[in-house]
Amino acid sequence: MKLTDIYVYQVNLPLEHPYWLSGGRLKFETLDATFVKLVTDEGLVGWGEGTPWGHTYVPAHGPGLRAGLETMAPFILGVDPRKVLEVERAMDLALPGHLYAKSPIDMACWDIAGQAAGLSIADLMGGACTKAQPIASSVGTKTIEETRQSIEMYRARGYVAHSVKIGGNVTRDIARIRDVEAIRRPDEIILYDVNRGWSRQEALRVMHATQDLHVMFEQPCETLDDIAALRALHSAPVSVDESLVTLQDATRIARDGLAEVFGIKLNRVGGLTKAARMRDVALAHGIDIFVMATGGSVLADCEALHLAATIPEQACHAVWACQDMLTLDIADGRGPRNKDGYLHLPDAPGLGVHPDEACLGKPVAHYSLAQESGAP
Ligand code: MG
Repeated sequence: MKLTDIYVYQVNLPLEHPYWLSGGRLKFETLDATFVKLVTDEGLVGWGEGTPWGHTYVPAHGPGLRAGLETMAPFILGVDPRKVLEVERAMDLALPGHLYAKSPIDMACWDIAGQAAGLSIADLMGGACTKAQPIASSVGTKTIEETRQSIEMYRARGYVAHSVKIGGNVTRDIARIRDVEAIRRPDEIILYDVNRGWSRQEALRVMHATQDLHVMFEQPCETLDDIAALRALHSAPVSVDESLVTLQDATRIARDGLAEVFGIKLNRVGGLTKAARMRDVALAHGIDIFVMATGGSVLADCEALHLAATIPEQACHAVWACQDMLTLDIADGRGPRNKDGYLHLPDAPGLGVHPDEACLGKPVAHYSLAQESGAP
């Protein structure tokens, strides 16, 4: 089997509400999504998605993703997509770094490999040990009252996990944490996500002021060096996500004891193939995991669900359903959807959900083996 064609689509995915991060420093209203359709000489078709959370959140850029695909296409056409490590090596050789551009290709290759084997991606990765995952909400930076309203809205949809965005104003952050903890239900998972919004001394001020509550902070400061410095000064549990990009980051975090939780966002780390290694590092070191899409449609959520399914239940906290934050559904209701706060793994081989092509418009690029080989 070999890859013969790569079709690239661009879709703007509008957010239902404007979304603020980092104390109001970053605002998001639309996500620039890229979808890829890989076609093989044996008729199998695989789909991938790469949707960075805007271009101000982490170093990832919608137009950059599509430029990366153009650079890598000649190196992956003709390769057997079932050989995901071969595709990974070809992409890494063609374009070092730029992991967010590689992620949709990796996802589509796993989709094809699963269909070829008659197995879901999770089973092909070694076996799904869970079939459903609780969904985590994403509560943007807001006032105390707006935070309560947002959590209530997600509770009404069945959500039991919430990622509450803080950072940017220490006094307000402390007040919001205290208020959310006051209304927290016994079975709820709540993570306070700083998104790198604090300096070291700001992080210490909040950690000291809330230490009686024993809450967890995600990505409190900009770098792993910052987090290492904090760890020597305070014992608050920490989750790392934006600073977890490469396998080397994962091994450093594990070796130096920098976090209790890995936040693995698939588009940021380069897809399932690379994320699976981080999962194994985490499990080997007693580190728990949040698996998430970086953003995007039900396809990206479904990809995260497959990886989460390969993690023992007690080590995987939740997945995030970005689809619930969008006003455009490119799969017309198909694929895993929120059922009482859970996403359920599809039974179909491969990814288990494909987009409605009419929603994607015309391809913005098409790369083919025939063109590469000079055939007419
Ligand atoms: Mg985060």
